[in-house]
Amino acid sequence: MAVSILDTLDIIATQIPTLSTEIIPIEESVGRIVTQDYLASFDLPRFDNSAMDGYAVKRADAGKEVSCQEVIYAGDTANIELKKGMAIKIMTGAPVPQEIDAIVPIENVTQTGEKIQLPDEIQANAFIRIAGEDIKAGTVYLHQGESINAYTIASLASQGVTHVSVTKKIKVAVFGTGDELRPHFEKIEAHQLYNSNSPMFLARSKELGCDVSFIHSVADNIDALESAIASTLGVDIIITSGGVSVGDKDFTTQAFSNLGMEILINKIDIKPGRPTVIGHIGKTIVVNLPGNPLAAMVNYELFVRAIIRKLSGNKQKYHHSIQTVMEADYKVRGGKYAVILGKYTGRSFSALSTQMPGMVSPMQEADGCILITPETTLLSRGQAVNMIAIRWEMYSDKKEGLLS
Ligand code: AMP
Ligand code: MG
Repeated sequence: MAVSILDTLDIIATQIPTLSTEIIPIEESVGRIVTQDYLASFDLPRFDNSAMDGYAVKRADAGKEVSCQEVIYAGDTANIELKKGMAIKIMTGAPVPQEIDAIVPIENVTQTGEKIQLPDEIQANAFIRIAGEDIKAGTVYLHQGESINAYTIASLASQGVTHVSVTKKIKVAVFGTGDELRPHFEKIEAHQLYNSNSPMFLARSKELGCDVSFIHSVADNIDALESAIASTLGVDIIITSGGVSVGDKDFTTQAFSNLGMEILINKIDIKPGRPTVIGHIGKTIVVNLPGNPLAAMVNYELFVRAIIRKLSGNKQKYHHSIQTVMEADYKVRGGKYAVILGKYTGRSFSALSTQMPGMVSPMQEADGCILITPETTLLSRGQAVNMIAIRWEMYSDKKEGLLS
């Protein structure tokens, strides 16, 4: 029995383990998943400091003329005393002395010689950045299972953290199966075909932060398959494509089973890509995708990506979707759970007009996909749909829609 798309995602979320931990320098941690909570060991800012170049004053002096002889710069200590009827000139980031009520920005005073005319109204704590208002000592500023980006690294660095505890990099092996396949850098005969799936999965797995090794392609026979599998067993995931349907030479899953694969999912109720198999040999996860490029790609995006997130310990282990609307009417055959690739215009989902399972060219156009149920035969223009993103960076060849 084919397993539903949603059940497959649940089986991945519950049965795929998370890899062990390593400690790496924060500068090299982009895209990695943290394996512990990080607590602030001190306040950020560490001390009350000025948010502006201006004057540190007492509110009692509002509307008065005060004199100013001293300056506090960023990096100074704050042990200057403020005398009555005086102000202290202070620069952005400089520590604010204890007895100061507010900072008055330079542009809000009028200066005549050594005398400064303060505004009539001065709010308490105006332009003072209070210790801990950014990150409070003792609070968690980075949670286990979160992914690190450049801005997370800013938080870590602001706390003086040099190394971070993350899940190990996922090791992936990729190969294609098929007697007809040749590597893209060789000459081929008219009856042969370049293996486009393996370089595709190599590139995509790298993009998703994995270390990838790959064997270009393996012939359609059990011996060749078994020796290819045996040589890759040290990795965390083996991704194959081809040889999983009902053809006379479809031996891929048989070869993995001969080497001890336990099957978690045998066929998924999805079009395209129904013959997909997910299992494991010991700790190595195995995904046998179909050979048809677009079918393989769709199942990689839905299921291999989910496996990668679970292995990496990412707490967001399910795909999320973008609510949008259909750009135009789109007819589908119905009767199956199906995946439709399309472009996201920024306002709507525009289904690709041709997208057959055996095609290569539509894949590079797809920003995302929608999953439809067997009852659906027509997606009408303006109809609400949920898009699962494949590529998620929004750029345009026109400069429009930038201001709100
Ligand atoms: P299969 O799943 O082995 O029946 O293959 C289905 C279709 O996908 C056939 O037309 C194969 O030639 C093609 N195919 C299989 N593997 C690849 C690959 N690695 N790259 C491109 N096309 C492939
Ligand atoms: Mg084949």
